[in-house]
Amino acid sequence: MPELPEVESIKKIVSPVFIGQKLNKYSINDERTNRFNSENPKNLGILLGVFRKGKVLDFTFKDYSILFHLGMSGRIDINSKINKHTRAEFKFTKDYLVFDDIRKFGYIKFVSNQLKNNHLQMIGPDILELSIENKRNILQKGKKSKVTIKNFLLNQKNMSGLGNIYVNEVLYKAKIHPISSTEKLNKNHWKEIFLYSKKVLNSAIKNNGTTLDDMTYFLPNGSYGSNQNFLNIYNKNNCNKCKNKIDKLYIDNRASYVCKKCQFLVN
Ligand SMILES: [Zn+2]
Repeated sequence: MPELPEVESIKKIVSPVFIGQKLNKYSINDERTNRFNSENPKNLGILLGVFRKGKVLDFTFKDYSILFHLGMSGRIDINSKINKHTRAEFKFTKDYLVFDDIRKFGYIKFVSNQLKNNHLQMIGPDILELSIENKRNILQKGKKSKVTIKNFLLNQKNMSGLGNIYVNEVLYKAKIHPISSTEKLNKNHWKEIFLYSKKVLNSAIKNNGTTLDDMTYFLPNGSYGSNQNFLNIYNKNNCNKCKNKIDKLYIDNRASYVCKKCQFLVN
């Protein structure tokens, strides 16, 4: 958390507010949040655009961009009060942006626009924009991969955007057990994975993301996502297709939900 749909929902709200405003000053008051920067450039000027790749939010100025990664608990607020979890503040002409992060896995990175592509290429292609060539490359990588399909999909270098909640949802829809061997998946399995990755993420975007019971995710305007009401397997007790009891298991300490009747182990 937050995953692609949450970051996209945040982007939709911050874009019309901040684009066209000048960034007058900012401060990052936490070492960890600032950990990837050797310098913090001044005078960035007017915000020209807000973009997203996978889970990374990209504020583009004339010469530099600011990349926000929200980690586990990062949050972007507009004109809200600072609090003990506030790690950075950005004061624009009219409005200000506050970056809060309780667990501090998130970061803010400054990158010159010349080097931005190199940086963003370290992240795999965005799931909502996969080309035929991207898909072919992912399949090739998958054939040589020794990890489970769940871990393969969570690795943002393969393709970017999925986190723990949506990977559970995608594998349920694709009828694939999360501990299946990636190298054993065939073309049809991948077709399903690509199809449902897009469907699951797009419908979560329509619902403004998923706010779980911990209520940590909400939008910069203070409203909550509603996709939690439409989840099929994450945090559920029974399969809504076959009513079978859903198994909860941990893969690398991350909760995985499986219906053994509807999802098949490939290995
Ligand atoms: Zn089932």
